[in-house]
Amino acid sequence: MKYDMNSLKAEEFINDEEIRETVRYAAEHKNDTALIDEILEKAALRKGLSHREASVLLACEDEERLERIYDLAEQIKKDFYGNRIVLFAPLYLSNYCVNSCLYCPYHIKNKHIARKKLTMEEVKREVEALQDMGHKRLAIESGEDPVNNPIEYILDCIDAIYSVKHKNGAIRRVNVNIAATTVENYRRLKDAGIGTYILFQETYNKKNYEILHPAGPKHDYDYHTEAMDRAMEGGIDDVGIGVLFGLDNYAYEFAGLLMHAEHLEAVHGVGPHTISVPRVKPADDIDPDAFDNSLSDEMFCKIAACIRIAVPYTGMIISTRENAKVREKIIRLGVSQISGGSRTSVGGYAEKERPHDTEQFEVSDERTLDEVVNWLMRTGYIPSFCTACYREGRTGDRFMSLCKSGQIQNCCHPNALMTLKEYLTDYASEDTKRIGEAMIEKEIGTIPKEEIRQIVRDRLEKIAAGERDFYF
Ligand code: SF4
Ligand code: SF4
Repeated sequence: MKYDMNSLKAEEFINDEEIRETVRYAAEHKNDTALIDEILEKAALRKGLSHREASVLLACEDEERLERIYDLAEQIKKDFYGNRIVLFAPLYLSNYCVNSCLYCPYHIKNKHIARKKLTMEEVKREVEALQDMGHKRLAIESGEDPVNNPIEYILDCIDAIYSVKHKNGAIRRVNVNIAATTVENYRRLKDAGIGTYILFQETYNKKNYEILHPAGPKHDYDYHTEAMDRAMEGGIDDVGIGVLFGLDNYAYEFAGLLMHAEHLEAVHGVGPHTISVPRVKPADDIDPDAFDNSLSDEMFCKIAACIRIAVPYTGMIISTRENAKVREKIIRLGVSQISGGSRTSVGGYAEKERPHDTEQFEVSDERTLDEVVNWLMRTGYIPSFCTACYREGRTGDRFMSLCKSGQIQNCCHPNALMTLKEYLTDYASEDTKRIGEAMIEKEIGTIPKEEIRQIVRDRLEKIAAGERDFYF
């Protein structure tokens, strides 16, 4: 098999030999300061790096250059994403699954975990609970089971979610994280009005992938790896990729992840919309120590910084798998979207107490959404509930060209302020409201055009008076 980023064959665009050669090359040049300086100069142009160049930065051990890598990541984060953090929540629909992933408690052989699938009434109850928290953007999650969770069930759930209009609430964007499927099914998801289609590769190492997925449809590495090409063929142009760090060697995964991004850009003219960086966590029947590739918090943050530099236009997501301390550090280095107030069990939001019986993983950050919003603002970030782009048809290459021109900022910033205002008016605690109002006042002043500033002020008044859903 030869490496070819333009190929549609998994083993050619994610080529094992090329990854191994990249990891070897990076290790050999980890102290090559001249080469690292050259790569850093290129990175400073903010047009991204190849998987090989970024891998050298990831391997770099020179203290002074490491500082420069972190500084550059932080600067790129500020330039492209400002001080905004978009918030979302996962919604677990069903934990029925016919796969046998060794790192997930929903695997078919786990006979003692309770199996649950939400009815449409339960979906609506979950959505009301999520709206009562203040969420506007969800990522739906489901195991793979053609009998219990066929595509029709997922489509019905999406309809049910969008149909709930509870008090001032609304879910305005549903991202979907379900198993690899057919072009036809991707088309049906697109027609249902989904935002991003998310599918984690788990590991790019085919041999290890086959061991970790011993049975079930997910065992097929090629079908899984080529899913994003089918999704794009089905008309979904915002796709989210990711690996589960800890399953295989991080340097291998890092190179694979960037090769995947390069492939999508080369073939479809648009790279991934988002990259997620989950790490293996404890869960029912799952001990993360069983996987010997666990990585330190320090290396985890270095990976995030190098991703930020390598693909500046791609949003980066971190979940409540990570604790508040790691989240704070990693947000500074490049993450643009986080989940908040998450419950990772089926039907968890409608329950008063956090249920653990059907949890997919243990949540490390158990704070409420209000606490997360409050913390973000105290740390200097504007929590944003914005969902404007896909509703305005700014997806795929349209979105990317706006990002690349830097124009997207002119939408993100006022949208963040207006959606924060909605949150403060409808859901926030007194303390959060106080901090938030002061933040909005201060941040309006940073909108460069007087005309836009005025429009935002008018709309903020309208929001206070009860109108909702303004965006640029
Ligand atoms: S990771 Fe997904 S496919 Fe694998 S067992 Fe868990 S729910 Fe099923
Ligand atoms: S304007 Fe678009 S890119 Fe910016 S925060 Fe809103 S949805 Fe995201």
